[in-house]
Parts: sequence; structure tokens; C-alpha cells
Amino acid sequence: GATVGILGGGQLGRMLAMASARLGYRTHIFEPGAAPAADVAHEWTQAAYDDDGALARFAAACDVITYEFENIPAPALDILSAETPLFPSRRALEVSQDRLTEKTFLSGLNLKVAPFAAVETAADLPAALAQTGVPAILKTRRFGYDGKGQARIKAEDEAAAALATLKGAPTIAEGFVDFSMEISVIAARGQDGAVAAYDPGQNLHRDGILATTTVPAPIPASLRTDAVLLASRILTDLNYVGVMGVELFVTAAGLVVNEIAPRVHNSGHWTQAGCAVDQFEQHMRAVTGWPLGDGARHANVTMENLIGGEVARAPNLAAEPGVQVHLYGKAETRPGRKMGHVNRITGPSG
Ligand code: ATP
Ligand code: MG
Ligand code: MG
Repeated sequence: GATVGILGGGQLGRMLAMASARLGYRTHIFEPGAAPAADVAHEWTQAAYDDDGALARFAAACDVITYEFENIPAPALDILSAETPLFPSRRALEVSQDRLTEKTFLSGLNLKVAPFAAVETAADLPAALAQTGVPAILKTRRFGYDGKGQARIKAEDEAAAALATLKGAPTIAEGFVDFSMEISVIAARGQDGAVAAYDPGQNLHRDGILATTTVPAPIPASLRTDAVLLASRILTDLNYVGVMGVELFVTAAGLVVNEIAPRVHNSGHWTQAGCAVDQFEQHMRAVTGWPLGDGARHANVTMENLIGGEVARAPNLAAEPGVQVHLYGKAETRPGRKMGHVNRITGPSG
């Protein structure tokens, strides 16, 4: 049988590996960190992204390579993709690795994004904030997740101090979007160009970290359609293969794109309980050339993340009817660390 390579051994890699196994594939995980969550009945390689020999051996052992980890360095991509097909494409990864490239790409598709400007040094702040207005958010262009690498500015005279907290990293300033709700669309595109999207979910964050996703999002049908069409344009323009998460703000002026993630997404975990083909199987189908699942939803679901010590609630949650428990098997519980999630079926799809 064929072997799928997954770059990244966190919980997303773990759930992709389980879906891959179900489709009959062998899975190799590439993960530099210690004790990867994906180290469960799958082979994994503990080597760094600057170990050219290890990258080449990994690629040679795989028939197709995908990723859950977004910060793969460009030279590693060169080595991997010279040997073995990589999905989603390098362009999709590079566009979304850098918030400046990402926003420039999205606005080039005529999609609405927050007003933005690049900030290299404090000298750039007056012009950048003239562009974005205040309040604004400074974000590091790369490596940010769970709200890390961000500083909010309520007034222009706070800007230099806020920038200093980001320690000289290349930064983008974004105008603060006045949104009524955050939603996301999980969409997939197959090797034949077919696109399938799941229903948008409503996302609630706590301390910058996704806390819950609920489907259906309480939005009018017209916005649901807008969200899906917009995601489809992004995927098609990128000639994308795989699952993508598209985070959106709902505003009085319509949908504003916050960011895209070229991978399975935390706000798509509800599909495990709500759809015949969940996002992990969907992604594996796309990258291995299977037909896509249709994305239809058979249940209303709320996904709740178990962050840090909340993982201790899992046994009680498991005792509730209609609750599906997913624990990531991480060796160490730390505050702010995603340890698992539950999907609670709240009724038939409606
Ligand atoms: P993730 O863990 O989703 O990858 P991240 O660290 O990449 O998050 P963002 O999604 O850019 O960060 O921002 C985190 C949250 O901060 C958003 O979900 C939203 O609640 C808020 N936020 C970000 N940008 C803006 C903005 N321009 N206007 C208003 N709120 C914003
Ligand atoms: Mg992000
Ligand atoms: Mg986000």
C-alpha cells in the first residue's frame, strides 16, 4: 500500500494519521519535537527541518506528503518536494505563512480584509496607523498562533510600547474590525478541482484561544452562502488540494476574512460528530486523489476544547449523552495547551 507522510506530530497530525490508517495507508510522521502526540501506531522520524539527509530519507519513504505544521522552512520544502508530491502546494503554504503576504493575496481576490500595513520599525508606526486607524492590532507576520505575538493599541501613543513587546519581529498593523461574530468555513478541494465545504461554525475564544465552535452558526442563509463561495474562490485561485480553514468576521458590511490556514483546523473538529466524512478523512482523500465527501451535516454540534487542566473534566463529559471525547495523549498538561476536545451533539441537523 501507499505511504502518506505528515509533517508535524501534534494532535492534528495524530488525527490525520488515524484517518489515513482508516483509508488503508501507512503513515510516516516528521516531527522534530519530543513526545509527539501523533506517535500512536504510526512510524515517526525525529529529525530537524535543517537535517537535509533526514528530510530526503523521509521524502523517499513517502508516496505523498502533507502537513499540519505551517512553519516549514523554504529549504526543507525544496528538498521534500523535489522527491515527492506535496499537498497543499507550496504556494498555499507560503501565502499563509506570512500575514502580510496573506492579506495582500486576499485583497487581491477582492475579498474584504482589515485595513493593514507593514511595520518594520517604530518609525513606520505613524504612517501604518494612518492607514489602519486606531484601535489597531500589531501582529508578528510569522509564527503567531492562539493570539500569541499580538499587541493591541487603543490610542496612537501606546503604539511604540506595544511594538516593543514583539521584540523586533517583522510586524503587520491591522485595523480593529468591529465584528458581531466570528465564524469559520472548512473547505476542501480535490485533485480534480472539485470543492466541498462544511457549514460555517461560530467560534468563541477565551484568552486568545479557541474555546468552542458551534454549528450551525446563527447567521442568515445568505451569509452562509457568501462564506462558502468566498472559501471556494480562495481554494480555486490557489489551485489548492486539501482542507483549508478560513476564519471570518461577521460585520455590518458583510464578511471580512481574518486568516486562512492551509490545513485541517481546530474549528473543523465538530465534523467528527456532524458529518459522514470528517475534515481529517476529507483532507486525506484530497491529498491521495480520492473523491471528496460532500460535506453534508447530519447533526447540530458544539465542539469544546479541553485546555490545560480542563482535560480532567473528560470523564464527567463522557458520562453525558451525545458527547464524543477526543484526548490527544500528550505527556504533559500545561496551562493554555490543547489537551483534547469534546463534540456534543445537540440535535439533528437544523
Ligand atoms: P489562531 O490560533 O486562530 O491561528 P492567531 O494567533 O493566528 O489565531 P488571529 O486569528 O489573527 O490570531 O487573532 C486571534 C483573535 O484576535 C481573532 O480570532 C479575533 O478574535 C481577534 N482579532 C484578530 N485580528 C483582529 C482584528 N483585525 N480586529 C478585531 N479582532 C481581531
Ligand atoms: Mg492563525
Ligand atoms: Mg485565528
